[in-house]
Amino acid sequence: MNLRETEEIIKKSFPNALPGDEILDKYFKTMLEEYEIKPDKTLFATSICSDDANFSADFSKILSRPFVMGGLGGLPYTGITGMVAYAHHIPDNGNAFIFYGPHIGFNGNGEIGRMRRPGQSHDTNSCGALMLALDRLITEDHEEVYVPLSSELDFQQTMLERSLMPFKHTIVHSENPKLEITLYTYNVIEKMLKKFISIAKNEFHCEKIILLGGIIINTDPELPDYLDVKNFEVMNVKDIKSVKTHDFSDFVAFKDL
Ligand SMILES: [Zn+2]
Repeated sequence: MNLRETEEIIKKSFPNALPGDEILDKYFKTMLEEYEIKPDKTLFATSICSDDANFSADFSKILSRPFVMGGLGGLPYTGITGMVAYAHHIPDNGNAFIFYGPHIGFNGNGEIGRMRRPGQSHDTNSCGALMLALDRLITEDHEEVYVPLSSELDFQQTMLERSLMPFKHTIVHSENPKLEITLYTYNVIEKMLKKFISIAKNEFHCEKIILLGGIIINTDPELPDYLDVKNFEVMNVKDIKSVKTHDFSDFVAFKDL
């Protein structure tokens, strides 16, 4: 498929999706013109899936040197400690910018959840971790009860599946389970990030935290990757509601994360 055909198919599931570089240019312009936020004084963080497909040239403005919070499926596995460390690394008089979300492929036939990767002639799943989670949730629905067991050997996948378990019925019985599991994962990622931000609020010594969340759409290697933006939010740190948790700040090294 060519660019136009691919875009037409993507837009059926994601009507607002645009090529990654185009959409980032648009938001960087907004940051500068409306909020006077300069990218060179901004520390980027990402909570996206580890999949190499996501480290696309189309997102290079953000991915050149980010604080990496994400792992399989895009969940911010670095948790509270990661958020505090990130807060401490922001340049003086700078700002925070967190880019997050799951990803999903569209192959040359317009099939959702599949993609052809550079140097390969066959297709694989995208997101592989989410499609595996979906397979397991469907199995549970039809056969024996599947419970993801905590395992040090595969803890990100286990945590991803546990996070999605509460929504399994809706996901499995939706019209397009591959799309639905991706959208639910987006919600899980955003909820986790906002919780960590509230807990780490007092560690952010900057004025603003910018959130850009969406669904990354992977395409064939010769075509651009797309982004469907679900949230662009400029938070004033002083207005963020602080959430108290167990006191993890007693340790001297905590202040030096
Ligand atoms: Zn993935």
